[in-house]
Amino acid sequence: VSLYDHCRATAALATALYLYHKENNSLNEDSIKNDDTEKFLIVSGDLYGIQDFIFKGYGDTRKHRSKLLRGRSLYVSLLSELAADIICRKIGLHRMSSLLNAAGKFLIIAPNTEKAQDAVNEVDCHINDWLYGITLGEAAIGITSLTATPRDFVEKHFQKLWDRISFQIEKKKFSKLDLDRHGGAVQHYLERFNNDLRSPVCPICGKRPSSDMVEGSSYIGQETMSACKLCRDQIFLGTQIVKNNNIAVLSKDAKCGPLSSRLVEPIYGIYQIVFLDGGHESMAQRGELLGYWDIQPWARESMASRATLKMINGYVPVYTQEDEHDERILYSEKSERKKLEAIEQIKPGDPKPFTHIAAKALNVREDSKTYAGVDALGVLKADVDNLGLIMSCGLKPERFTISRIATLSRQLNTFFACYLPSKLKGDARYKEVYTVFGGGDDLFLIGPWNVMLNLGLELSKDFKRYCCGNPELHLSAGIIYCKLNTPLDTMATQAEEALELSKGGEKDRVTVFGETVPWFNVEDLLQVKDKLQKWYQENIVTRSMLYKLNEFIYMAAQEKQILDQNEIFLKHMHCTKWRALLGYFVERNVAKSFPQEQRPQIVKDVASSLASWLEVYGGWLKVPLWDILYNTR
Ligand SMILES: [Zn+2]
Repeated sequence: VSLYDHCRATAALATALYLYHKENNSLNEDSIKNDDTEKFLIVSGDLYGIQDFIFKGYGDTRKHRSKLLRGRSLYVSLLSELAADIICRKIGLHRMSSLLNAAGKFLIIAPNTEKAQDAVNEVDCHINDWLYGITLGEAAIGITSLTATPRDFVEKHFQKLWDRISFQIEKKKFSKLDLDRHGGAVQHYLERFNNDLRSPVCPICGKRPSSDMVEGSSYIGQETMSACKLCRDQIFLGTQIVKNNNIAVLSKDAKCGPLSSRLVEPIYGIYQIVFLDGGHESMAQRGELLGYWDIQPWARESMASRATLKMINGYVPVYTQEDEHDERILYSEKSERKKLEAIEQIKPGDPKPFTHIAAKALNVREDSKTYAGVDALGVLKADVDNLGLIMSCGLKPERFTISRIATLSRQLNTFFACYLPSKLKGDARYKEVYTVFGGGDDLFLIGPWNVMLNLGLELSKDFKRYCCGNPELHLSAGIIYCKLNTPLDTMATQAEEALELSKGGEKDRVTVFGETVPWFNVEDLLQVKDKLQKWYQENIVTRSMLYKLNEFIYMAAQEKQILDQNEIFLKHMHCTKWRALLGYFVERNVAKSFPQEQRPQIVKDVASSLASWLEVYGGWLKVPLWDILYNTR
């Protein structure tokens, strides 16, 4: 077991024990040695509604889309980090007592005292009232607690405790909202709107009232003018985060400069967020600094940092000098006015909007003046297969301890929250890929459509290596390709559906172009793609022949399907003729421009390769074929 996690768990248990005995006036040997008293309070938190919070409500403001998305994703991480922080502070625990902490979930080892129980209830009400107020019930944090004895943590017993904790967390999901407090219509909803503002309802989220404090703010821009406090804060975070590695968490009354450099609405009404690079010592001396975090440690050359490392921010592509000369960005803008706007927009260091990320999917044609392919986005969603099972049964009972669980959870998180962004940043092929989120056990990426399958394959291989080839640990993924004007929540839903297809049955697979393929076959399909592409470039096959191939793929896939059934009807038999039709088609069309003496050999090669691919891969052949078609359009 990792010495770090072991020490950390030991310290958390010791702190809780000390507080328990201190409060109960029982700091004596007999009481301390008693392992059967319920001395611990295990507090868990689970942020609900993350998906909706991040993806829903983008109004008609495509301009802010990528900043807002970045800001929302960071905001979600802050919500769960800071919820754990308040609980620890109220109870009098160090932040390190929050043992598991990833992707909207946390687990705190607290003492089973009245003070701690009260603190948990008080914080639960406070943060959920606040969340209800700003998200109108869209997001909530489910907080549960249960008591445990020291013996429960001992090997062979801990698994039972873990099951109890997991059960409690699952159960809480059925009562996400406290209906006694928040049932019925939202009180005084309409009274919050100010009709003097340009747009009384926030044009960005379309549900909260715009704020006069935000009207005309530089983050919103002259076109939009109005926004609610929350949307403004999220754009503020999304804008600043790509320029700064460090954030300072301050008490809400701290002296922290003008409104333009901080949140308008402190988180939970308690925490102010500013971007500081140094100068925090004096704030710390005044007691105003509650945290100073390096939130993208993977972006640094060296690890030297005076800040706490928190891996809560993903990689976002920003403009570089190179982009000022990249014709593809201008090529995809249709009108002159749009082209000028695009040139205006390219400022090195600023985050790239999705339109310019999609433009990177275009390929230079041979004339080196025009471009082939489609400028579309690819969305990759992936997560670890069978995670619940791995967490509850992945360790042998005698090895099932809190430290090992902490190690497992922390190391999985590190792959998504640290390795992934550093890979995207460091690998030229993937530097245009945007992280919507990466952490815990999953990732959600948006990038130029034609790099996403390769990236997914590499990540699945990297993950296996990261887990030392353990056959039980693997990823499944869903990839969808979409046009630029696709709403974000549609992207999220479709990617989720593709991922669900990969998860049904075998797992360790990817769904792309609607076909579900095991990762190890993707490798073969990419080789098929290379070969098809070569034929196309050498004019052995033409574009219309590639289109025609779709029909054979359809027939071969249908044949596979009917052969699996017990009965075959005559009317379905047509598809079994694909071999004969393919032979005829290849003989007539392939390599027509080649000299007579070369042609027979080429025709033979193409016919036998195509037939064997169709035989082996059936519908999967769509994956290499469509890839080529979209790349060369
Ligand atoms: Zn809004």
